[in-house]
Amino acid sequence: MAAIEMMQLSYRSPKSEVRESKIHGRGLFAIADIAKDEIVLVKGGHIVDRKTLREKITPRLGSVEIQIDDDLFIAPVTDEERELSMLYSNHSCDANLGIRGEVTFVAMRDIQAGEELTHDWATTDDDDYSIECKCGAPNCRMVLTGKDWQHPELQERYAGYFSVYLARKIAVLGAGVKHQKNLR
Ligand SMILES: [Zn+2]
Repeated sequence: MAAIEMMQLSYRSPKSEVRESKIHGRGLFAIADIAKDEIVLVKGGHIVDRKTLREKITPRLGSVEIQIDDDLFIAPVTDEERELSMLYSNHSCDANLGIRGEVTFVAMRDIQAGEELTHDWATTDDDDYSIECKCGAPNCRMVLTGKDWQHPELQERYAGYFSVYLARKIAVLGAGVKHQKNLR
């Protein structure tokens, strides 16, 4: 059988390209105008749990995953798959991409050619990390944590664009708050 060209694991819009980023390493940039809610990225890879990710993937491949549930992540597992799965969307505290479902990234507003395409980790992550942010956005939070999805301000800004598993947590939390208020 003839060799088959390695298939991409993730989808990146033909309106985007990877190049040097001021935020971090290589980033993803719009090379054409992108309309609000247009699909920009779809993450592909293997479904792995947190233990596998931390012990076997991150030490070897770095930060290559997207969290899709409390203990589930989607990530490449080999060096060869890394490039085929990478999205190259950097974190920004002033992101222009949000999540539809768990692995699909869409434009949260109209994006112009030339803009860097970024998502906010608050829309995908529920974890216990705390790291310094150097995204350079005027509204930079300076410190990012795996619990940023709990900030009411971020819940408001990214309403409709959180990963589904986080949106569900936010809805349950909100319902809890309302319930407590009703009891007072
Ligand atoms: Zn920042």
